[in-house]
Amino acid sequence: MSHSLVRAGVHVSKHPAVKHKLALLRDTRTDPKKFRELVRELSWLLGYEALADIRLAPVPVRTPLEEVQAEMLADRIGLVPILRAGLGMVDAMLELMPTAEVWHLGLFRDERTLRPVEYYNKLPDSATVDVCLILDPMLATGGSATAAIEVLKRWGAVRIKLINLIAAPEGIAAVTAAHPDVPIFTAALDRQLNERGYILPGLGDAGDRQFGTGRSG
Ligand code: URA
Repeated sequence: MSHSLVRAGVHVSKHPAVKHKLALLRDTRTDPKKFRELVRELSWLLGYEALADIRLAPVPVRTPLEEVQAEMLADRIGLVPILRAGLGMVDAMLELMPTAEVWHLGLFRDERTLRPVEYYNKLPDSATVDVCLILDPMLATGGSATAAIEVLKRWGAVRIKLINLIAAPEGIAAVTAAHPDVPIFTAALDRQLNERGYILPGLGDAGDRQFGTGRSG
């Protein structure tokens, strides 16, 4: 990827399996069942890349032959899916990190202002995890992502990562300007937003495509 926005902290997957699945995900003929499978598979692959620096702790393990000093995950992970489109990314992440906590955050985009409005947040008073992964398939204007990061920072989260399937340059610029400490992991960096805030070429509405709620015609 030769895009000028690809800099330290912005990770655009180069894996051929990611590119292949992304092509199927974008395809307008892909039905919701297949779409959900692809969201899950892509989330697994991106999560695997995003969690590469998670801390480990030494743990003694007895094999059938002898004792070995093995390592196990030490960081407490929090998954923060942005409702509703982020829901499809949760199961894959829980397969990778079965002990992760899941904290749902409801933000909808005001279609007039394109600004995020928070409608669901049950985070406890202070942070209970070491690393938060924000899950949202589409990084469009960056409004929801920036709002979610602000909520998590107020909560006390220190290490935050943003996991998207498709990002727009506008969204990356907004998030990195406001929160340069938050790395972004995405399967693709697309061309631009249209006047309605949709990513081009994108895949349409990630929520509608997962849940079969798109209006036809
Ligand atoms: N949200 C979506 O679901 N799709 C876009 O293209 C932009 C925001």
